[in-house]
Amino acid sequence: MTVLAGGRLADGTPADVRVDASTGVVVEVGPSLVSTAGEEVVDCTGLVVLDAPVEPHAHLDKAGTWPVAPNPTADLMSAVRTWATELSHRSADQILETAWPVLEDLVLHGAVAVRTHVNLSVASGWAPLEALVALRDEAARTGLADVQVVALPSMPLTGDGSADNRRVVEEAIGRGADLLGGAVHIDPDPDAATAFVLAVAEREGVGVDLHTDETLEPDAVGLVHLARRVAELGWRPGRATASHCVSLGVQPAGQQAETAALVAAAGVSVVALPQTNLYLQGRERSSAVPRGLTATRALLAAGANVAAGGDNVRDAFNAVGRADPLETAALMVMAGHLTPAEAWHAVGAAGRVAMALPPAGPVVGARADLLCVEGDDLTSALARAGETRTVLRGGRVVARSVVRRSLLPDTPAEPGTRPATDPQEHP
Ligand SMILES: [Zn+2]
Repeated sequence: MTVLAGGRLADGTPADVRVDASTGVVVEVGPSLVSTAGEEVVDCTGLVVLDAPVEPHAHLDKAGTWPVAPNPTADLMSAVRTWATELSHRSADQILETAWPVLEDLVLHGAVAVRTHVNLSVASGWAPLEALVALRDEAARTGLADVQVVALPSMPLTGDGSADNRRVVEEAIGRGADLLGGAVHIDPDPDAATAFVLAVAEREGVGVDLHTDETLEPDAVGLVHLARRVAELGWRPGRATASHCVSLGVQPAGQQAETAALVAAAGVSVVALPQTNLYLQGRERSSAVPRGLTATRALLAAGANVAAGGDNVRDAFNAVGRADPLETAALMVMAGHLTPAEAWHAVGAAGRVAMALPPAGPVVGARADLLCVEGDDLTSALARAGETRTVLRGGRVVARSVVRRSLLPDTPAEPGTRPATDPQEHP
């Protein structure tokens, strides 16, 4: 057993948390728990104990490649071309060299479950999938994280020139992928491309996670296609995920509500990706630039499962980003207008639903995937995004970061001009 002592819960209530690494669950939450002999005690003074977030949408095959493959115009199609010309020929070892450090950053920041897409084409062969399957297996062997790999085939999947790409979809699960994906909005027939991916997923008994659309044009209805086809198949909630869904954010409110109702009824999860879509979309506009975000409020009002992810990190699709769900959550607050609690739900509990993972958090009986991070409550933790963190996966400490900060004034403080506290010190 391990006791997390001296921390606070999301609402600021002081509480200790006892976890059992042998069962992986939280066994006790309360003020001033008494530790027993031999029990490990983790000092959480100055920290908030939260459910560990997840990363429901990453691109670890590309993450960290900005130095070798930047994107001069910073728009989506240029980014897609950059991957094809600069990155598609990398070996599995080269991919692992950039992917693994970003996985480490995610775990250090608290994301103990990661779903990553992997681009596949005739040019790339299967090396990118082999790399991420190896990464997934190493993360499992070392106990650092659950990783799910989504095969992201090149387009088109319909019409002329689609045969090789369709073969990628047909074979990806057999070669180790966990789910099927695709940027179906690029296909000349997005509805047929969606139907094809779903038919293969149905046959293979796996889920899908589609890049449904990434456009500020209001005419993209890929989310409607997906919801209708998932409803026809009668899939369980959570088996299908729609990522990005930017177009929904610029459609009229009535259309948003209609689509959101279909999505909720079909049990399709939606993953908003503020970092990349704020970065990529709207560059052709010079005034009143829209936010590249899906209609989270309409989706939540309809009862849909709305998660949020970090997407691209330091690659042609997003030059910045730090692989930190606290960054994603803060963007959902500032750019997506969710409350801090809604934003944390999006990067945590909702992401877990999308990834078919059990509920976690400092609640008796929940999985002991926990993030202890600087703050007095959830809102201050999101505001500060401190790097001093302790991360538990299944009740075991899997990452710990400690930052010490010091002010070094030229001269001592004048008496009475500053409070005599030292707020900079944290365990
Ligand atoms: Zn993506």
